[in-house]
Amino acid sequence: MKYIEEYRDAYLTQKLLKDLRSILTRDWILMEVCGGQTHSIIKSGLDQLLPKEINLVHGPGCPVCVTPLELIDKAIALASRRDVIFTSFGDMLRVPGSSSDLFAVKAAGGDVRILYSPLDSLKIARENPDKTVVFFGIGFETTAPPNAMAVVQAQVQGINNFAMLVSHVTVPAAIIALMESPDVKVDGFLAAGHVCTVMGYWEYEPLAQKYKIPIVVTGFEPVDIVHGILKCVRQLEGDRYYVENAYARSVIREGNRPAQAVIQRVFELCDRPWRGIGVIPQSGYRLRPEFAEFDAELRFPEIQSIETKESDLCISGLVLQGRKKPHECMAFGKECTPQTPLGATMVSTEGACAAYYRYGRYADANRRIDGDKWLKNPI
Ligand code: SF4
Repeated sequence: MKYIEEYRDAYLTQKLLKDLRSILTRDWILMEVCGGQTHSIIKSGLDQLLPKEINLVHGPGCPVCVTPLELIDKAIALASRRDVIFTSFGDMLRVPGSSSDLFAVKAAGGDVRILYSPLDSLKIARENPDKTVVFFGIGFETTAPPNAMAVVQAQVQGINNFAMLVSHVTVPAAIIALMESPDVKVDGFLAAGHVCTVMGYWEYEPLAQKYKIPIVVTGFEPVDIVHGILKCVRQLEGDRYYVENAYARSVIREGNRPAQAVIQRVFELCDRPWRGIGVIPQSGYRLRPEFAEFDAELRFPEIQSIETKESDLCISGLVLQGRKKPHECMAFGKECTPQTPLGATMVSTEGACAAYYRYGRYADANRRIDGDKWLKNPI
């Protein structure tokens, strides 16, 4: 498939790895921000192929994983109501709340529907005027434009039985929080290519300067990722730090201006709790007052008083900050599996724990094989 197959080319990946080995003089800790990149790294075995000097740690870029427990519990409370049709992307259904999940609500008879587009919620709302359709609007800047557009369309079309439970988060605020934390050690970031396709990368430039850290916009295939790592290490080894674009086939500095405009029109920045991490100032989007009628938390004020309880065993907050790897969790593969998840990172298709479990990274997660051997067994 054009624009995918060539970015999985084993020999090109190997050449980039050779270039990487040739410039390394010391150890570096790099964080891939996006959970999609984490899965690609583990699936393709890059974690085992990279030179031992490169320690890749996994960041907080899985939108399902960082959706706060409080919001999951509110979603469960709303989905349990007989006067509500609850709509969501599919990977939210297995995410554990304090005592249940949306899948269990659906199994018990709740009207929970999986969508591929938030605009489908409007169609359901038109077809069910006696119910309120609540859409679970989660994600980073990538999903914010279509979610914002659903709210605009609801207002334009006068669909008053539609509301959104909003839990949007933004990448630059997460990078700031990580760099300000004394417990987090990261030398360089691989920024998420799809987020930058929407937002561009101009927002990262002051961060690279302030924290003296390379930020490389990176794609999702093995060649993309090694290319991003190579660019990052070249900066580090040369004592330089700026924003570089290693995903030029999709990203320009300014990003997608119309998409940014619809985000600005519908959402405003707010403080937002991140699951397992805590509140990060100005890290989330909430609906602007002009769209308050579509805010599910305002429409159903009774869900504000929900009490939450996180698993005592789960260390996903540390995993999401790059401070621990999934197999270092005592519950990994034992109490916690994809069938019995204790944390969202074991559920989501972008979750680091799910990637480690799916691709067999247990106690030997850091074992490496040499590149020549891998050449005979390309991706
Ligand atoms: S393995 Fe399970 S319990 Fe451990 S950090 Fe991951 S999600 Fe949490």
